[in-house]
Amino acid sequence: MLIDGKAIAEQIHAETKAEVGKLAARKVQPGLALVRVGEDPASVVYVGAKGKACERLGIHSQNFILPEATSQPELLALIDTLNKSPRFHGILVQSPLPKQINEELIFQTVSPAKDVDGFHPINVGKLLMGETDGFWPCTPAGIQQLLIRSGVQIEGSHVVVVGRSNIVGKPVAAILMQKAKHADATVTVCHSRTRNLPEVTRTADILVAAMGRPKAITADMVRDGAVVIDVGVNRIPDASRPKGERLVGDVDFDAVKEKAAKITPVPGGVGPMTIAMLLHNTVQACRQQTAR
Ligand code: NDP
Repeated sequence: MLIDGKAIAEQIHAETKAEVGKLAARKVQPGLALVRVGEDPASVVYVGAKGKACERLGIHSQNFILPEATSQPELLALIDTLNKSPRFHGILVQSPLPKQINEELIFQTVSPAKDVDGFHPINVGKLLMGETDGFWPCTPAGIQQLLIRSGVQIEGSHVVVVGRSNIVGKPVAAILMQKAKHADATVTVCHSRTRNLPEVTRTADILVAAMGRPKAITADMVRDGAVVIDVGVNRIPDASRPKGERLVGDVDFDAVKEKAAKITPVPGGVGPMTIAMLLHNTVQACRQQTAR
């Protein structure tokens, strides 16, 4: 069975829109600052999509587009202004940043209260400590929602995460191992130095692939009846497509879908959830900052 990320993201958008309506009743509108430095084509698409989604839900958003040659002090000055601005409850700095800018430093400079991407060390620490008032990174939080809303039992399951990045692998492991409802999983995290990867992935009840390697998870690596979440977004050549390429995940979808009980497609799986959780976080930030 296919896990329909688009449909689940729409459910979350509807809930977020209802929250935006409640805030509007007390004359508050959530605001999200979208910061992009340079013209990385994927970033242009992502920031554009985030702005459009805000508009659809009644969230105020504004793009702050800086040239590729922007210096680190210039970007820090913009973030300082946005941290102080009451118009923006959330700040998103689109990654990747040009090489002259230290991305970690930028993530640390965004106020933790406005860190709707969940990358500030305070929010990362809160997640690890099981505190629930911080922000969780959007893609991992979206993966948990996909599982919950498609009726997958997480509690007690063996989750195998392939990938240990700060953006996906580590936080998804942290979320699913929480001592909490819709978590309580036994989590194994694999990476490029894992010995005998297929042997480990075959023990997964829930397999999360976040490697950035096209179709690397093959059918022999998946147990019959497993739930497979494909985070990968990879472009591969395809002469039959107008652009000469197409998007594939980290999972060999056509073969693995025959074995998996549930599987996310690429595109249309995890991708739409990332934006849905970003807007959810923005409304949460607004609620926290305007609480009376
Ligand atoms: P990174 O490149 O930061 O991390 C990849 C991880 O996979 C690393 O931990 C690496 O191991 C591990 N890895 C790579 N190759 C193998 C292998 N052959 N066997 C086992 N482990 C391997 O990627 P991200 O976490 O940022 O992203 C992962 C994928 O998810 C990408 O395709 C990205 O585009 C996509 N993505 C999608 C999002 C969405 O909204 N749908 C959002 C974010 C990312 P090691 O640490 O040892 O190097």
